[in-house]
Amino acid sequence: MNSKITLAISKGRILEDTVSLLERMGMAPVEDLNKTRKLLIDTEDPNVRVVVIRATDVPTYVQYGAADLGIAGKDTLMETQGEGIYELLDLGICKCKLMVAGRSELPDPGKRLKVATKYVRSAQQYFAQQGKQIEIIRLYGSMELAPLTGLADLIVDLVDTGNTLRANGLQPLEHIEDISSRLVANKASLKVRVGTLQNIVEQFRNAIEES
Ligand code: AMP
Repeated sequence: MNSKITLAISKGRILEDTVSLLERMGMAPVEDLNKTRKLLIDTEDPNVRVVVIRATDVPTYVQYGAADLGIAGKDTLMETQGEGIYELLDLGICKCKLMVAGRSELPDPGKRLKVATKYVRSAQQYFAQQGKQIEIIRLYGSMELAPLTGLADLIVDLVDTGNTLRANGLQPLEHIEDISSRLVANKASLKVRVGTLQNIVEQFRNAIEES
């Protein structure tokens, strides 16, 4: 076992906020993540290294213990079964909302609605709780296009400013969940490396309280 703690962080929109949080903690990656091709990188903290991976892979690395800790959006965590993962802290970064959106006209409630999303599990759960029968159409991006082209009646997607919806003539219709990034841990690591991990969690807590 590597003696360093491995922290899995997500590429993409969440990366910038994650790195500024790590900088405040004295745990900044020692290489510029926008330039380096390395994926396993030391940090200013000699006890911690980071792996930079796709957001959807973070729960997998943490679940199997390849990473002791991870930072992932609640949206991503809700899509995984989460076995072997413990959610420790709401980091309060990358806040947005998981929403149902569609055209201004509400679709005919009599028919089985088609819902395009990459958040298949969350959408299924949400509509099941509402007692609504829907057909899920799985997409991997540009969900906003689906109602415009007749592929789906509704979408389930993340909404931040609402600009993307507006630009495509769509409206937020129903709120499913408030989303933000969370610090998660591998359950076994939490037991085996409790002291070290508690210190790191405390550093995260202090950094988010300061901001
Ligand atoms: P906006 O136009 O600001 O409402 O942003 C909406 C677009 O950005 C959609 O394509 C979302 O999937 C994406 N998005 C918004 N917030 C987040 C976030 N916190 N993490 C990842 N993607 C996001």
